[in-house]
Amino acid sequence: MLAKTPVNETSFLDELFDRGLLIETGVDGLYGRSGLFEAIGDGFQALVSRYGAADKAEVVRFPPAMARSVFEQSGYMKSFPQLAGTVHCFCGNPADHVSLLQTIEQKGDWTEGQKASDVVLTPAACYPLYPTAAKRGDLPAEGRLYDLLSYCFRHEPSKDPARQQFFRMREYVRMGTPDQVTEFRANWLERGQKLIGDLGLPFAVDVANDPFFGRTGKMLAVNQRDQRLKFELLIPIESEENPTACLSFNYHQDHFGKTFGLTSADGEVAHTACVGFGHERVILALLKHHGTDVARWPASVRSALGL
Ligand code: ATP
Ligand code: ZN
Repeated sequence: MLAKTPVNETSFLDELFDRGLLIETGVDGLYGRSGLFEAIGDGFQALVSRYGAADKAEVVRFPPAMARSVFEQSGYMKSFPQLAGTVHCFCGNPADHVSLLQTIEQKGDWTEGQKASDVVLTPAACYPLYPTAAKRGDLPAEGRLYDLLSYCFRHEPSKDPARQQFFRMREYVRMGTPDQVTEFRANWLERGQKLIGDLGLPFAVDVANDPFFGRTGKMLAVNQRDQRLKFELLIPIESEENPTACLSFNYHQDHFGKTFGLTSADGEVAHTACVGFGHERVILALLKHHGTDVARWPASVRSALGL
Protein backbone atom coordinates (compact mmCIF):
# COMPACT_ATOMS: atom_id res chain seq x y z
CA MET A 1 0.00 0.00 0.00
CA LEU A 2 1.21 3.47 -0.83
CA ALA A 3 1.69 5.82 2.05
CA LYS A 4 -0.37 8.98 1.83
CA THR A 5 1.70 12.04 1.02
CA PRO A 6 1.44 14.23 4.11
CA VAL A 7 -0.21 17.57 3.42
CA ASN A 8 2.17 20.41 4.16
CA GLU A 9 0.46 22.02 7.11
CA THR A 10 3.24 24.28 8.28
CA SER A 11 1.52 27.60 8.71
CA PHE A 12 3.09 31.00 8.18
CA LEU A 13 3.07 31.44 11.97
CA ASP A 14 5.03 28.17 12.44
CA GLU A 15 7.51 29.30 9.81
CA LEU A 16 8.01 32.60 11.66
CA PHE A 17 8.59 30.71 14.93
CA ASP A 18 10.97 28.26 13.22
CA ARG A 19 13.00 31.11 11.74
CA GLY A 20 13.07 32.83 15.14
CA LEU A 21 11.42 35.96 13.72
CA LEU A 22 8.56 35.72 16.22
CA ILE A 23 8.97 34.09 19.62
CA GLU A 24 6.22 32.04 21.26
CA THR A 25 4.92 32.98 24.70
CA GLY A 26 2.20 30.35 25.05
CA VAL A 27 -0.55 32.87 24.24
CA ASP A 28 -1.94 33.34 20.72
CA GLY A 29 -1.23 36.85 19.50
CA LEU A 30 1.41 37.63 22.15
CA TYR A 31 4.90 37.23 20.69
CA GLY A 32 8.48 38.28 21.11
CA ARG A 33 10.29 39.73 18.09
CA SER A 34 13.80 39.03 16.84
CA GLY A 35 16.47 41.60 16.02
CA LEU A 36 15.87 41.07 12.31
CA PHE A 37 12.11 41.55 12.70
CA GLU A 38 12.79 44.82 14.53
CA ALA A 39 15.36 45.96 11.96
CA ILE A 40 12.81 45.54 9.16
CA GLY A 41 10.33 47.52 11.29
CA ASP A 42 12.86 50.30 11.93
CA GLY A 43 13.39 50.57 8.17
CA PHE A 44 9.65 50.78 7.61
CA GLN A 45 9.21 53.50 10.26
CA ALA A 46 12.02 55.54 8.71
CA LEU A 47 10.35 55.20 5.30
CA VAL A 48 7.03 56.44 6.71
CA SER A 49 8.87 59.37 8.32
CA ARG A 50 10.46 60.28 4.97
CA TYR A 51 7.06 60.27 3.25
CA GLY A 52 5.60 62.49 5.99
CA ALA A 53 8.64 64.72 6.59
CA ALA A 54 7.48 67.74 4.59
CA ASP A 55 4.37 68.09 6.78
CA LYS A 56 6.46 68.68 9.93
CA ALA A 57 4.18 66.76 12.27
CA GLU A 58 4.64 67.19 16.00
CA VAL A 59 6.06 63.96 17.45
CA VAL A 60 4.34 62.66 20.59
CA ARG A 61 4.84 59.24 22.21
CA PHE A 62 2.52 57.76 24.84
CA PRO A 63 3.04 54.53 26.77
CA PRO A 64 0.80 51.62 25.67
CA ALA A 65 -1.79 52.54 28.27
CA MET A 66 -4.12 55.44 28.93
CA ALA A 67 -6.17 56.99 31.71
CA ARG A 68 -9.32 54.99 32.45
CA SER A 69 -11.31 58.24 32.69
CA VAL A 70 -10.33 59.23 29.13
CA PHE A 71 -11.08 55.72 27.89
CA GLU A 72 -14.57 55.89 29.46
CA GLN A 73 -15.20 59.29 27.89
CA SER A 74 -14.09 58.05 24.46
CA GLY A 75 -17.09 55.69 24.19
CA TYR A 76 -14.84 52.75 23.24
CA MET A 77 -16.88 50.37 25.42
CA LYS A 78 -20.02 51.22 23.44
CA SER A 79 -18.45 50.12 20.19
CA PHE A 80 -15.74 47.53 20.94
CA PRO A 81 -16.23 46.02 24.44
CA GLN A 82 -14.97 42.69 23.08
CA LEU A 83 -11.53 44.12 22.25
CA ALA A 84 -10.75 46.21 25.33
CA GLY A 85 -8.16 45.33 27.97
CA THR A 86 -8.11 46.80 31.47
CA VAL A 87 -5.33 46.75 34.07
CA HIS A 88 -6.33 45.25 37.43
CA CYS A 89 -4.12 45.14 40.54
CA PHE A 90 -3.89 43.66 44.00
CA CYS A 91 -4.92 46.24 46.61
CA GLY A 92 -5.53 44.01 49.65
CA ASN A 93 -4.06 43.71 53.15
CA PRO A 94 -1.59 41.06 54.38
CA ALA A 95 -4.44 38.62 55.13
CA ASP A 96 -5.75 39.03 51.58
CA HIS A 97 -2.22 38.37 50.35
CA VAL A 98 -2.09 35.07 52.25
CA SER A 99 -5.36 33.97 50.73
CA LEU A 100 -4.23 35.13 47.27
CA LEU A 101 -1.12 32.94 47.48
CA GLN A 102 -3.17 29.99 48.68
CA THR A 103 -5.56 30.37 45.77
CA ILE A 104 -2.65 30.45 43.30
CA GLU A 105 -1.16 27.38 44.97
CA GLN A 106 -4.47 25.55 44.64
CA LYS A 107 -4.79 26.68 41.02
CA GLY A 108 -7.95 28.60 41.86
CA ASP A 109 -9.05 31.90 40.33
CA TRP A 110 -6.73 34.32 42.13
CA THR A 111 -7.76 37.15 39.79
CA GLU A 112 -11.21 37.49 41.38
CA GLY A 113 -9.91 39.86 44.05
CA GLN A 114 -7.99 42.10 41.62
CA LYS A 115 -9.26 45.68 41.53
CA ALA A 116 -9.47 47.93 38.48
CA SER A 117 -6.64 50.47 38.37
CA ASP A 118 -6.80 53.93 36.79
CA VAL A 119 -5.11 52.52 33.69
CA VAL A 120 -6.47 50.71 30.63
CA LEU A 121 -4.53 49.41 27.63
CA THR A 122 -4.44 51.67 24.58
CA PRO A 123 -6.67 50.27 21.80
CA ALA A 124 -5.44 52.64 19.05
CA ALA A 125 -2.45 54.98 19.16
CA CYS A 126 -4.53 58.15 18.81
CA TYR A 127 -6.89 57.64 21.77
CA PRO A 128 -4.72 59.27 24.47
CA LEU A 129 -4.02 62.25 22.20
CA TYR A 130 -7.40 63.99 21.88
CA PRO A 131 -7.89 65.25 25.47
CA THR A 132 -4.28 66.48 25.71
CA ALA A 133 -4.66 68.28 22.36
CA ALA A 134 -7.95 69.84 23.54
CA LYS A 135 -6.23 71.21 26.66
CA ARG A 136 -4.04 73.39 24.45
CA GLY A 137 -7.08 75.50 23.54
CA ASP A 138 -8.47 76.40 20.09
CA LEU A 139 -6.45 74.99 17.20
CA PRO A 140 -4.41 77.52 15.22
CA ALA A 141 -5.84 78.53 11.80
CA GLU A 142 -3.69 75.91 10.04
CA GLY A 143 -4.89 73.17 12.42
CA ARG A 144 -2.49 70.64 13.90
CA LEU A 145 -0.73 67.47 12.83
CA TYR A 146 0.69 64.84 15.19
CA ASP A 147 3.00 61.86 14.68
CA LEU A 148 2.30 58.94 17.06
CA LEU A 149 3.63 55.43 17.60
CA SER A 150 2.43 53.09 20.31
CA TYR A 151 1.97 49.48 21.20
CA CYS A 152 -1.78 48.84 21.23
CA PHE A 153 -3.83 46.06 22.79
CA ARG A 154 -6.86 44.29 21.37
CA HIS A 155 -8.31 41.12 22.83
CA GLU A 156 -8.51 39.12 19.61
CA PRO A 157 -6.40 35.98 20.15
CA SER A 158 -5.70 34.29 16.83
CA LYS A 159 -3.29 31.95 15.05
CA ASP A 160 -3.07 34.49 12.25
CA PRO A 161 0.27 36.24 12.87
CA ALA A 162 -1.24 39.41 11.38
CA ARG A 163 -3.84 39.51 14.17
CA GLN A 164 -1.92 40.02 17.40
CA GLN A 165 -3.07 41.12 20.85
CA PHE A 166 -0.15 43.51 21.34
CA PHE A 167 0.99 45.27 18.17
CA ARG A 168 2.34 48.65 17.15
CA MET A 169 0.46 51.36 15.33
CA ARG A 170 2.12 54.41 13.78
CA GLU A 171 -0.30 57.23 13.16
CA TYR A 172 -0.46 60.69 11.72
CA VAL A 173 -3.42 62.54 13.23
CA ARG A 174 -4.77 65.72 11.66
CA MET A 175 -7.06 68.16 13.48
CA GLY A 176 -8.71 71.17 11.88
CA THR A 177 -11.54 72.18 9.56
CA PRO A 178 -13.37 69.54 7.48
CA ASP A 179 -11.41 70.72 4.40
CA GLN A 180 -8.05 70.47 6.13
CA VAL A 181 -8.60 66.98 7.44
CA THR A 182 -10.18 65.53 4.30
CA GLU A 183 -7.30 66.91 2.23
CA PHE A 184 -4.85 65.25 4.63
CA ARG A 185 -6.60 61.93 4.27
CA ALA A 186 -6.77 62.14 0.47
CA ASN A 187 -3.03 62.94 0.41
CA TRP A 188 -2.10 59.95 2.52
CA LEU A 189 -4.37 57.66 0.52
CA GLU A 190 -2.09 58.47 -2.46
CA ARG A 191 1.18 58.41 -0.51
CA GLY A 192 0.32 55.15 1.23
CA GLN A 193 -0.09 53.39 -2.11
CA LYS A 194 3.18 54.78 -3.41
CA LEU A 195 4.97 53.74 -0.21
CA ILE A 196 3.68 50.17 -0.31
CA GLY A 197 4.59 50.12 -4.02
CA ASP A 198 8.20 50.98 -3.04
CA LEU A 199 8.14 47.84 -0.90
CA GLY A 200 7.18 45.68 -3.89
CA LEU A 201 3.98 44.47 -2.24
CA PRO A 202 0.65 43.73 -3.98
CA PHE A 203 -2.24 45.72 -2.56
CA ALA A 204 -5.82 46.89 -3.01
CA VAL A 205 -7.60 49.88 -1.50
CA ASP A 206 -11.19 49.55 -0.37
CA VAL A 207 -13.80 51.22 1.82
CA ALA A 208 -14.10 49.48 5.16
CA ASN A 209 -15.95 49.35 8.43
CA ASP A 210 -14.97 48.55 11.99
CA PRO A 211 -16.25 45.51 13.95
CA PHE A 212 -18.75 47.53 16.04
CA PHE A 213 -20.38 45.36 18.70
CA GLY A 214 -24.00 44.17 18.71
CA ARG A 215 -27.13 45.19 16.84
CA THR A 216 -26.63 48.97 17.04
CA GLY A 217 -23.07 48.23 15.98
CA LYS A 218 -24.32 46.83 12.68
CA MET A 219 -25.93 50.20 11.91
CA LEU A 220 -22.76 52.08 12.82
CA ALA A 221 -20.76 49.80 10.53
CA VAL A 222 -23.18 50.32 7.62
CA ASN A 223 -23.07 54.08 8.16
CA GLN A 224 -19.26 54.09 8.26
CA ARG A 225 -19.16 52.20 4.99
CA ASP A 226 -21.89 54.21 3.24
CA GLN A 227 -20.30 57.51 4.17
CA ARG A 228 -16.88 56.25 3.10
CA LEU A 229 -15.39 57.31 6.44
CA LYS A 230 -12.76 54.58 6.46
CA PHE A 231 -10.48 53.26 3.73
CA GLU A 232 -8.00 50.44 4.09
CA LEU A 233 -4.98 49.40 2.12
CA LEU A 234 -5.15 45.62 2.02
CA ILE A 235 -2.31 43.16 1.39
CA PRO A 236 -2.76 39.37 1.25
CA ILE A 237 -0.86 37.85 4.19
CA GLU A 238 -2.68 34.91 5.76
CA SER A 239 -5.13 34.48 2.90
CA GLU A 240 -5.48 35.55 -0.74
CA GLU A 241 -9.28 35.82 -0.52
CA ASN A 242 -9.29 37.90 2.68
CA PRO A 243 -6.37 40.31 2.44
CA THR A 244 -5.27 42.06 5.63
CA ALA A 245 -5.72 45.76 6.40
CA CYS A 246 -2.19 47.11 6.73
CA LEU A 247 -2.91 50.85 6.48
CA SER A 248 -6.12 52.59 7.57
CA PHE A 249 -7.35 56.03 6.59
CA ASN A 250 -10.03 57.26 8.95
CA TYR A 251 -12.18 60.37 8.87
CA HIS A 252 -13.87 60.75 12.28
CA GLN A 253 -15.82 63.90 11.28
CA ASP A 254 -16.53 65.79 14.54
CA HIS A 255 -16.74 62.65 16.74
CA PHE A 256 -13.55 63.20 18.77
CA GLY A 257 -13.89 66.97 18.53
CA LYS A 258 -17.29 66.80 20.22
CA THR A 259 -16.30 64.11 22.70
CA PHE A 260 -13.18 65.88 23.94
CA GLY A 261 -14.06 69.53 23.31
CA LEU A 262 -11.59 70.15 20.48
CA THR A 263 -12.24 73.46 18.73
CA SER A 264 -10.95 75.07 15.55
CA ALA A 265 -9.62 78.63 15.32
CA ASP A 266 -13.13 79.83 14.39
CA GLY A 267 -14.59 78.25 17.55
CA GLU A 268 -16.35 75.47 15.58
CA VAL A 269 -16.02 71.86 16.72
CA ALA A 270 -12.82 70.55 15.14
CA HIS A 271 -12.83 67.63 12.72
CA THR A 272 -10.17 64.90 12.91
CA ALA A 273 -8.72 62.20 10.69
CA CYS A 274 -5.92 59.72 11.17
CA VAL A 275 -3.82 57.46 8.99
CA GLY A 276 -2.67 54.30 10.77
CA PHE A 277 0.21 52.04 9.74
CA GLY A 278 0.13 48.51 11.10
CA HIS A 279 3.81 48.06 12.03
CA GLU A 280 3.78 44.27 12.42
CA ARG A 281 1.40 43.75 9.50
CA VAL A 282 3.71 45.51 7.04
CA ILE A 283 6.73 43.55 8.32
CA LEU A 284 4.75 40.31 7.97
CA ALA A 285 3.62 41.26 4.45
CA LEU A 286 7.27 41.79 3.48
CA LEU A 287 8.29 38.42 4.96
CA LYS A 288 5.36 36.69 3.28
CA HIS A 289 5.95 38.12 -0.20
CA HIS A 290 9.75 38.39 -0.32
CA GLY A 291 10.55 35.42 1.93
CA THR A 292 12.19 35.11 5.33
CA ASP A 293 15.71 35.47 3.92
CA VAL A 294 16.17 39.24 3.75
CA ALA A 295 19.45 38.97 1.84
CA ARG A 296 17.41 37.66 -1.10
CA TRP A 297 14.86 40.48 -1.13
CA PRO A 298 14.80 42.73 -4.22
CA ALA A 299 17.56 45.35 -3.99
CA SER A 300 15.07 48.21 -4.35
CA VAL A 301 13.09 46.97 -1.34
CA ARG A 302 16.21 46.55 0.80
CA SER A 303 17.34 50.01 -0.20
CA ALA A 304 13.92 51.55 0.66
CA LEU A 305 14.26 49.96 4.11
CA GLY A 306 17.97 50.70 4.56
CA LEU A 307 18.67 46.97 4.92
P1 ATP B 1 -9.04 44.52 11.16
O1 ATP B 1 -10.21 44.94 10.31
O2 ATP B 1 -8.07 43.63 10.43
O3 ATP B 1 -9.44 43.99 12.51
P2 ATP B 1 -8.93 47.21 11.96
O4 ATP B 1 -9.70 47.79 10.83
O5 ATP B 1 -9.68 46.95 13.22
O6 ATP B 1 -8.19 45.87 11.47
P3 ATP B 1 -7.74 49.68 12.72
O7 ATP B 1 -8.64 49.83 13.88
O8 ATP B 1 -8.02 50.53 11.53
O9 ATP B 1 -7.69 48.15 12.29
O10 ATP B 1 -6.23 49.84 13.20
C1 ATP B 1 -5.22 50.54 12.46
C2 ATP B 1 -4.16 49.59 11.94
O11 ATP B 1 -3.63 48.79 12.99
C3 ATP B 1 -4.71 48.61 10.92
O12 ATP B 1 -4.69 49.15 9.63
C4 ATP B 1 -3.77 47.44 11.06
O13 ATP B 1 -2.68 47.61 10.20
C5 ATP B 1 -3.31 47.50 12.50
N1 ATP B 1 -3.99 46.45 13.32
C6 ATP B 1 -5.27 46.46 13.75
N2 ATP B 1 -5.55 45.37 14.48
C7 ATP B 1 -4.40 44.64 14.52
C8 ATP B 1 -4.03 43.39 15.13
N3 ATP B 1 -4.88 42.70 15.85
N4 ATP B 1 -2.76 42.95 14.96
C9 ATP B 1 -1.87 43.67 14.22
N5 ATP B 1 -2.16 44.84 13.63
C10 ATP B 1 -3.40 45.33 13.77
ZN1 ZN C 1 -6.37 56.93 15.01
